[in-house]
Amino acid sequence: MNFAQLYPITWPRCLEAKMPDPLNDLTRRRMRSQVRRDTRPELALRSELHALGFRFRVDYAPEVDLRSRGDIVFTRRRLVVFVDGCFWHGCPEHATAPKNNAGWWRQKIRANQERDRRTDSALESRGWQVIRVWEHERAIEAARRIASILARD
Ligand SMILES: [Zn+2]
Repeated sequence: MNFAQLYPITWPRCLEAKMPDPLNDLTRRRMRSQVRRDTRPELALRSELHALGFRFRVDYAPEVDLRSRGDIVFTRRRLVVFVDGCFWHGCPEHATAPKNNAGWWRQKIRANQERDRRTDSALESRGWQVIRVWEHERAIEAARRIASILARD
């Protein structure tokens, strides 16, 4: 009797039911890009902001006890910028649920959106201003939007 027979691994049914199956390439790529740092849209926005003369923190937790990290944080101005991926955050223009397990994905994306709203209000209640930029937005336009908010107060 080998090790595998002695200790068979069985997935709990509830977990199995939640797993999308099978993962296609597109889904796999999307799952990878959710955890990636320094995505191209983030880098583009950062370089536009630098070009406008701004200095800021990158991938920074504005409030230590809140788990969320802002992609770009202006600490003194108490401004947090999130660059949201179109798929994971449910962009109205580009979010389409994959055909496999569409319901599961819709639910997952809705949960992400709800978490985003909770993050926004938690930060706002502590005096932070939150700006969300879609990854599809042109970096220069997003940078100008941020600049105009910073110029306002
Ligand atoms: Zn989009």
